[in-house]
Amino acid sequence: MNAPAKPPFFGAAYYPEDLPAATIDQDIPLMKKAGMNVMRMAEFAWSTMEPSPGRFEFGWLHDAVDKLGKAGIASVLCTPTATPPLWLTEKHPEVLYQWDNGKRIGHGGRRHYCPTAPVYRDHIEKIVSRMAREFGAHPNVIGWQVDNEIDFYFRPCSCDHCRKRFHAWLESKYGTIDALNAAWCTSLWSMTYKRFDQVPAPRDDIWHHPALRTSWAHFASDAYVDFIRFQAEVLRNNGAGQPIGTDMINGGHVDHFDLHQHLDIAQVNHYHMADNLWETAFWFDKARSYKERPFWNTETMTCWNGSCAANGYKAPGFCRANTWFAYALGGEAALYWLWRQHFAGQELMHGAVISSAGRPLHVFDEIAEIGAGLGAAGEFLAATTVDKTGLAIHFSDKAQALFEQQPMVNGLTYPGNSLLPRVYHPLMQAQFRMEVLQPAHSLDGMRLLISPFVPMLDDGGLRERLRAWIKAGGIWIAGPLTDVRDQSYAKYRHAPYGSLEEWAGFRSKFEIPGDPRQFKFRMGKSGAPQSGSVWYDAMEAVGCTVLARYIEGPMKGGAAIIERPMGKGRIVVLGTMPEPSAFVNLVRTCAKKAGIAPAASASRNLLCVPRSGNGLCGMVVVEHENKAGTLTLSKPAKDLISGKAHAQGTVKVKPYGVLVLKYGR
Ligand SMILES: [Zn+2]
Repeated sequence: MNAPAKPPFFGAAYYPEDLPAATIDQDIPLMKKAGMNVMRMAEFAWSTMEPSPGRFEFGWLHDAVDKLGKAGIASVLCTPTATPPLWLTEKHPEVLYQWDNGKRIGHGGRRHYCPTAPVYRDHIEKIVSRMAREFGAHPNVIGWQVDNEIDFYFRPCSCDHCRKRFHAWLESKYGTIDALNAAWCTSLWSMTYKRFDQVPAPRDDIWHHPALRTSWAHFASDAYVDFIRFQAEVLRNNGAGQPIGTDMINGGHVDHFDLHQHLDIAQVNHYHMADNLWETAFWFDKARSYKERPFWNTETMTCWNGSCAANGYKAPGFCRANTWFAYALGGEAALYWLWRQHFAGQELMHGAVISSAGRPLHVFDEIAEIGAGLGAAGEFLAATTVDKTGLAIHFSDKAQALFEQQPMVNGLTYPGNSLLPRVYHPLMQAQFRMEVLQPAHSLDGMRLLISPFVPMLDDGGLRERLRAWIKAGGIWIAGPLTDVRDQSYAKYRHAPYGSLEEWAGFRSKFEIPGDPRQFKFRMGKSGAPQSGSVWYDAMEAVGCTVLARYIEGPMKGGAAIIERPMGKGRIVVLGTMPEPSAFVNLVRTCAKKAGIAPAASASRNLLCVPRSGNGLCGMVVVEHENKAGTLTLSKPAKDLISGKAHAQGTVKVKPYGVLVLKYGR
């Protein structure tokens, strides 16, 4: 009997229900050779666990959990609700998701259920409570995953249950139908409603009101949050003592802040390619914000993705850099999808650790090397956590749903071609480390906050908390396109902004969209001309200092960037989005005032994440562009992976190289 697994956890998804019982005996020695200590199981195994209504078969899963446990490999178990079995969808078709044309989806895919159907909840309660009673106190089960990658990819379910709930959601938000009519201006195009039950579920073939579509998306988020809350409660009420999470996908449409009010641990999946591997850092910075405990990277790929076609071979070393991103950014688990390639089914060509014939794939040695590195650096990682720098940027799941319905500028995607490349990536390359917060998050401990593209400042009750935070000394960089929509997704009418003009002491003369052409502005009197982008607000100073003025176009002479003190703090308003280098310079100036410095002196292709705790201090470094990098150490450190001691000064990092540096000798 091996000792129970402890963090950092390293493993994969495993599907014993699809394999002959003896296969696990061949797999376990290879799992050990790869340095793995956790397997995630049962996420789609409903028809194996409950082959007919009320007949439960958990023997196979007990065998797997026990055999893995004996080998020192822990299990994470999943509720199987992303794939209701055929006996259930045949008997109760109302379990199935309904399209906006009134047709039910058919059986055979994934997440083909309605999140609100009462009969589905009844059946979920049966299987999930049984799972909790079987495994809730099992010493080798270390956690739970509810469902799988919840989202409403195409449109929320349009069934009668969902529509009724939508009407109740609208009524609780607006109180009266007249209030909704006034907020949405439904007199336009003769859309005025007499009753809430007249408000339609949006259809793809109708040019609907954007407030209707956005409300529908926000309602659907609440419905899915409630679906996950329900399952977490069933697990807890039936004796599951392990941490409960749900494996999020990046972006998506569900509000992950709301979701984590009901969960114990953040779990996140990602499948980035080599050219956008850096984006992973954004999603992990975001995952880190939900809970005080480290997050789990529940799924990533070893090399290529694939369904019926394999897609995206990655160069040697990619797997190492990709896997270490999770541990570097505050995760305590990284799991591949999947351990053994499926021999049949919709995703039989996806990359894995071993083939469907049980042979190690070409990445096996690289994976074993990662396992060995975690063995060497694991104690340090478990004893320390990622340092908070006092710098945060805002990302809002609710704004994402809004921008999908109202992009405001042709081609704008959020965070796709806006927040990620124009804000996060330049700061990351300049070695600024930050928290990625949703508007509902507390601002405690933050000293500099950057909030572009946050149209609804009342999202999460942010407005009043933000005002108090600035007055107490916070520095806020706002805009463009921040504070421009009310809680009904409409424009303000007293000014283009809810509070921004009043707080920052300016008057917006007019605004023009940043498509199809860009206009230049200049910092101070002598700065080099540079291009704005996305949006242009020509501001007039009322009580503020002008930092930059437009030098061409209809806005020529107007202020492009202004600032003003507010209480002990300060507001900087971006009327347009500067070029990355100018943006970083502006942040650098504000960061200096806030007492925030870059986390490292290093080349742009290195992710450098300082961490400390229990009297230990160090930094995890990951090269993520497959080229050599350099880092200047301010004090001597030891790389716990290679065992090599580094003196103060320059350290070279090889392409896709990883260092776990512990300061001191
Ligand atoms: Zn429904």
